[in-house]
Amino acid sequence: MTDETEERLNIMEVYLNRNDIKAVDVPDESIVCRLCLEMVDNGCCISLDCETKDVVTLRILLEKYFPELDLYVTKDPAICKTCHLSLQNHSDFIKNCLDTTEKNPKIL
Ligand SMILES: [Zn+2]
Repeated sequence: MTDETEERLNIMEVYLNRNDIKAVDVPDESIVCRLCLEMVDNGCCISLDCETKDVVTLRILLEKYFPELDLYVTKDPAICKTCHLSLQNHSDFIKNCLDTTEKNPKIL
């Protein structure tokens, strides 16, 4: 039986190779955002399994809006605050549009 985590990409290695950076030059607490592939401090990342204000995880939101993303290709994926804000704005926008349509069925 194969351990599925062995087959997952190390997103930090991808980042280092892509930017020609050596691992020794990276602060220990650094994490690479799964969405924008930028390196950020661990304290500035949010796990995809963290619940949002709508009580669903970021993973569920991303799977809903971006089904083409494979969120299991890397181990313990996290996203930066900038991507988190963009995702939340996207989700809020769609929800507001749907709410408006629902509240005005005879007009829309
Ligand atoms: Zn990001």
